[in-house]
Amino acid sequence: MTNDELYALWAPWRCGYILGPKPAACVFCEKAQAPAAHDRENLVLERAVHNFVLMNTYPYNAGHLLVTPYQHSATLEALAPAALHEMMDLLVRWKQRLERGMRAQGVNIGINLGAVAGAGITEHVHAHIVPRWQGDTNFMSTTADTRVISQALHELYETLIMTQEPQ
Ligand SMILES: [Zn+2]
Repeated sequence: MTNDELYALWAPWRCGYILGPKPAACVFCEKAQAPAAHDRENLVLERAVHNFVLMNTYPYNAGHLLVTPYQHSATLEALAPAALHEMMDLLVRWKQRLERGMRAQGVNIGINLGAVAGAGITEHVHAHIVPRWQGDTNFMSTTADTRVISQALHELYETLIMTQEPQ
């Protein structure tokens, strides 16, 4: 029995973290493990204790953010309570920043678990925050070409990183 297998036996909630990350296969693990100096190019907005916040490279709408744990886990129940609580804290705080920085009029927050529920990356849990405006039509994903989306994402990154939360 290897050390990793032993560890998985006595701390099964950690085994995904220890055994799981496969940078070539999982984009979230790849960005989590990249040096913080690459956060701007990776569109990582915040690194908290258990989770990090990044912009979705394939946004449903402008300002579409993701909150995801560092732990490579397909399920919510495998995450420690502290990680779950922090995920909700980050959802609330970044929702406020979208309201302030982008004047979002409404926000969709959701977690798709499993392919049949619409999850694109099923093996690593992530929560979506999608800002909404009256009459929005997902213009970025339907009409813009890749270069325009990439440029818009990086401009928006600068806006969001500078937006303060309400005191
Ligand atoms: Zn992962």
